[in-house]
Amino acid sequence: MSFKNILSINLGRPEGMKKVIIFLGPPGSGKGTQAKIIAAKHNYAHISTGDLLRALKDKVPLSAEESDALERVEAGQLVSDELIYALVFDEIETSLARGQGVVLDGAIRNVAQAKAYQKFFEGKQLGDEVIVISVALDDDEALKRISGRRICRQCGAIVPVGSSQVRCPTCGGELRIREDDDPTILKERIRVQGNQALVPILAYYTNLGVVRSVDGGRGIVEVGQAIEKVLEN
Ligand code: AMP
Repeated sequence: MSFKNILSINLGRPEGMKKVIIFLGPPGSGKGTQAKIIAAKHNYAHISTGDLLRALKDKVPLSAEESDALERVEAGQLVSDELIYALVFDEIETSLARGQGVVLDGAIRNVAQAKAYQKFFEGKQLGDEVIVISVALDDDEALKRISGRRICRQCGAIVPVGSSQVRCPTCGGELRIREDDDPTILKERIRVQGNQALVPILAYYTNLGVVRSVDGGRGIVEVGQAIEKVLEN
């Protein structure tokens, strides 16, 4: 089944499925692709902090904080926690108010953020509605996957390395290499967002008993099936 077909299936939310699905994984683990698939399939809002930050490029005028954030994104560094909250909490509120669950993609990059989101969800009586999907992949494999992958200019779909696609398989848009997939910047991203950085975040959520880990080393469909299984149980 093609990625486009996977995205077009909307099955709604199965009974018992948590309302807040948090994806964790190193850059290149495939968490963004899987987050999009799950959101489309169950009509959840897909909230990617990376996408929200990249969208700032089109904003005029930019505040000093926002331009600093864009520079940090281009350098592969984390942006301030405060800006992340300002971008994301409103989005989450809006989706929840519509009765939609949320899939958070890349939204949590350190323990302070994990705690702030948990407090936010507990404040909405959604503390028990959080599940964390950890897409496990070692940093070397993640690096290999990112080097050479392409992104659709139009819809943001990720086209894996080695694919002979000339246009985006989802929307037909033009493909390009993401600026922060440049090898030097990539090293920095893996340093600040790779497996070592994930250890304390995973420890925090493991302590809450909400982490489910899936092997990210398999193909898109197999990883997706593994995620579906853990979400339904
Ligand atoms: P992503 O598209 O998730 O790989 O994110 C792209 C870039 O946005 C990251 O390399 C960071 O510079 C920044 N970013 C995204 N999410 C966060 C976050 N939760 N905290 C801090 N920086 C973030």
